[in-house]
Amino acid sequence: NNKGVHSSADRTPACGAGGRRFDSCWTHMNLSTLVTTIPYIGEFYQKKLAKLGIITVENLLLHLPHRYEDFSASVRIADIKPGKNYTVRATVLKIENKSVFKKKIVLTQAKINDGTATIDVVWFNQPYLINSVSKGEDFFFSGKAGNRGKKFCLLNPIIEKISKQPIHTGRMVSIYPETKGLSSKWLRFVIKNLLDRVKNSIPEPLPRKILEEHKLMKKSDALKAIHFPSSPKEAKEAKRRISFEQIFLIQLSVLEEKIRISREKTSSIPIDVKAAQKLVSLLPFKLTDAQRKSAWQILKDMEKTYPMNRLLEGDVGSGKTVVAAIAIANAIKSGYQAAFMVPTEVLAKQHFSEVFKILKGFKMNIGLLTGKEDKYYSHKLRSDSIEISRKKLLEKVLNGDIDLLIGTHTLIQDKVKFKNLALVVLDEQHRFGIKQRRKLVSREKGEEIRIPHLLSMTATPIPRTLALSIYGDLDLSLIDQSPKGRKKITTKIILPKDREVAYSFIQEELKKGRQAFIICPRIDSPNDEEKKSRWSKAKAVKDEHERLSKDIFPGFSLGLMHGKLKIKEKEKVMNDFRRKKTDILVSTSVVEVGIDVPNATVMMVEGADRFGLAQLHQLRGRVGRGDHQSHCFLIPESFSDKTKKRLNAILKSNNGFELSEKDLELRGPGDFLGKRQWGVPDTVMGSLGDLELVQSARNAAKNILENDSSLKRHPLLRVKANELRKKMHLE
Ligand code: ADP
Ligand code: MG
Repeated sequence: NNKGVHSSADRTPACGAGGRRFDSCWTHMNLSTLVTTIPYIGEFYQKKLAKLGIITVENLLLHLPHRYEDFSASVRIADIKPGKNYTVRATVLKIENKSVFKKKIVLTQAKINDGTATIDVVWFNQPYLINSVSKGEDFFFSGKAGNRGKKFCLLNPIIEKISKQPIHTGRMVSIYPETKGLSSKWLRFVIKNLLDRVKNSIPEPLPRKILEEHKLMKKSDALKAIHFPSSPKEAKEAKRRISFEQIFLIQLSVLEEKIRISREKTSSIPIDVKAAQKLVSLLPFKLTDAQRKSAWQILKDMEKTYPMNRLLEGDVGSGKTVVAAIAIANAIKSGYQAAFMVPTEVLAKQHFSEVFKILKGFKMNIGLLTGKEDKYYSHKLRSDSIEISRKKLLEKVLNGDIDLLIGTHTLIQDKVKFKNLALVVLDEQHRFGIKQRRKLVSREKGEEIRIPHLLSMTATPIPRTLALSIYGDLDLSLIDQSPKGRKKITTKIILPKDREVAYSFIQEELKKGRQAFIICPRIDSPNDEEKKSRWSKAKAVKDEHERLSKDIFPGFSLGLMHGKLKIKEKEKVMNDFRRKKTDILVSTSVVEVGIDVPNATVMMVEGADRFGLAQLHQLRGRVGRGDHQSHCFLIPESFSDKTKKRLNAILKSNNGFELSEKDLELRGPGDFLGKRQWGVPDTVMGSLGDLELVQSARNAAKNILENDSSLKRHPLLRVKANELRKKMHLE
């Protein structure tokens, strides 16, 4: 990974002898300077950095090493022993390139001497070294001592010109996450230069009191120490300092949002106990205790004069819809309107009929607003529902005729105006900041603006610690138990060679009239580039659909589902499956959320080792929703110890919360946060699972906000918190 001694300069002549010309650029450099204006970062590197989301000097300084090599042991060549990392200072006696044709590699061989002994040095595939290293010159060499064949030598050492403060050798050397074309050596070189230029102009965002209280080093020291630590302890302290700041800022943003919301006005909705009891009594089942408790927490929130901001977390099938329906019925009974927003049209329709069933006993009108057909159900209608024009539907929403409007994000368009909306329910949606909620305000003439209550629901169980960071602005209700009498889904790990067993099992189920899902990790077969990567073996849903239809299940009908289909196509595929026109749905993991097909009894997951535990658990939750015994087959592509451990957790546990904790432990927080672009460095992401750190950062943020709730007296913090707030979609 290390290019030659001068490689950093190879493509960027400006940093060499001509550097002085750029002195004017340097004088004004600070953390927000764009990397594109830095003299020695040429176009080639600018592109690479942009890919990593690195735009400013600060971004670059926050591109943190993920580990270190310790080359601080500086020794005499005579004292070197095999198997360890060393740094020696020595003179080059000889250096030459040698091609090894059979293996298609170039060896660079050298002999070096430091006065105590001579040792051989070997580099693989770095022929350019020879351009910058000549016989008779002195260098630092940092590398591992080992045997090559019978010869004892230094393998692939990093080399650096002799200086008082080496950055690549003779110390703890930072190693950065590997990205094509950005070597650790280049990063060290650039970061060292930047640090030297800006170290005196790095503002300290954390108040001194917090630094003292939590024993944190200054930001400028931490940045230097994390890239160029003098000891493992210092590196650790620096990482804690940088993580603390990031978590502290997240906490400031979410807590500030919480305070803001608590200052808004809303419609206080009294609890109609009778209505709730009636709704519950009309259900064909008994509510679980967790459902009751959550419903009560929600109703209590809606009674308040400031808007509810609550997250209802419950495993797939835990029965969140009913809980939402109780809240909706309560709002409507008091004369208000409610909105129910879901991620896809398929789900919007599903919820329309589901909620309509639950609320049937009440006199209320429900509208469905989707891309094309807009439906309407009124308690006065004889039929289940009728289609009406968009114009009519919107009129009814505006004049209050429609009590509940269900739809996708079409609901937040400007032309959708409510008469007196008091409750918004979000299913598997991004959160809603105040600004978005303001778009849905309702206001009687001359009255103050009232923000609707918000109930957000998710089936992704987030471990407690992470919830504090990601959802720290929301109050949490958990449905941590599943309805009684539900049959346990049998889960099995099946090795690829035994795939046939799963196929014949599925055939038997299909013959009994049941249906099955077969999930594949990718859509298209790999292109040439991907063929070289670890994706080459992953099954593509299109290929599998064809193969399974032709070779394995010729007598049956197979549907094909993936994210690249058009909305209408997806809808048709889902409807065909729901109406049992197709027997098997071959799909990517898009079926993960919310799809309810009770007749499906088998979930087969190809490439199971590629999915997170929580995700597998979600997929498994697509079956076992009816009266029939259901089955889940997990087919890993490879079966390493780590995979074994993870998949075994799925076999053992049927609790999404437990599994998400396990995921956090085994894979880190990436799975939960992966798709979010918060600009928080990966290395710091890991700390979001550190309960102690998260809690102390949260407390520190609370203390600040207590006396300065809009951060007027902490302008730098305010700027940073606002930036983060945008990234977190709080606005
Ligand atoms: P999710 O939390 O995944 O959204 P749903 O609300 O769709 O779950 O509920 C899944 C299924 O379980 C639905 O068919 C629903 O009618 C049923 N259900 C909900 N609560 C209970 C309960 N307490 N007992 C039995 N079945 C229930
Ligand atoms: Mg649901």
